[in-house]
Amino acid sequence: MSDTPTRVALVTGASRGIGRAIATRLAADGRHVVLAARSQGPLDELKGEIESAGGKATALAVDVGDRAAFASAIEGVTKDLGRLDVLVNNAGITRDGLLMRMTDEQWDEVIAVNLTSAFAACRAAARPMMKNRFGRIVNIASTSGVIGNAGQANYAAAKAGLIGLTRTLARELGSKGVTANVIAPGFIETDMTSGLPEEVGQTVLKAMSVPRLGAPEDIAAAVSYASSDEAGFLTGQVICVDGGLTMC
Ligand code: NAP
Repeated sequence: MSDTPTRVALVTGASRGIGRAIATRLAADGRHVVLAARSQGPLDELKGEIESAGGKATALAVDVGDRAAFASAIEGVTKDLGRLDVLVNNAGITRDGLLMRMTDEQWDEVIAVNLTSAFAACRAAARPMMKNRFGRIVNIASTSGVIGNAGQANYAAAKAGLIGLTRTLARELGSKGVTANVIAPGFIETDMTSGLPEEVGQTVLKAMSVPRLGAPEDIAAAVSYASSDEAGFLTGQVICVDGGLTMC
């Protein structure tokens, strides 16, 4: 029998897409998963699925764009469950537009949901993690934050900001047993990309080495490793899971 306690993992954006796949995978890995997003219905449904498969889950309806409410929700769930070991900041939105047409609102909304939320979550999670001398922070960025993407100044800036945030946390928290890494997905088939014209996917595909678009499970597998107990020597890294698009 292992002495390792059941790890508690909070995953944002767990109601669908990549976050749902991450939460499902971490539950299968034996973690108690806290499922965070705004929509209560899909979270309750996923919690039911995880529990039917013998796993443990808690649904947490919260708007990560409301920094104070989100931080206090993290503190509340940590108190209720007695610990917080893994934080996956995955919730994200796009509000695309070329620079000259991008509004202040598009900029502010994307920075708030994709970047400021992660800062607030990391700050709230760092205290219990440091106290337990164990923590795994995984921030979901994007290849757009690594190489840029026309029409996504707000999104690419937020994702590049996540990389700077993560590497700084890796330096600040490494001596306390807390690691911080970025997973940067390439083109993954989810609701976020389903509205894009088909040519976009085809163009990206031509620049990739693996001849298929990504699936949410491709990202979940990388998060599973980066958030595992055995990944204690991995920190400050940006892992591009993109079928060879960037080779970053
Ligand atoms: P998605 O299918 O649109 O799902 C987004 C998730 O974020 C949903 O669960 C949504 O839940 C949640 N969310 C959005 N705004 C929120 C808010 N204010 N508060 C709480 N939760 C919120 O997107 P996805 O494709 O799975 O993307 C997941 C992450 O991967 C994002 O950070 C995205 O930038 C990144 N990514 C995706 C791709 C791709 O090709 N799909 C590529 C690179 C990076 P509710 O609506 O219920 O709140």
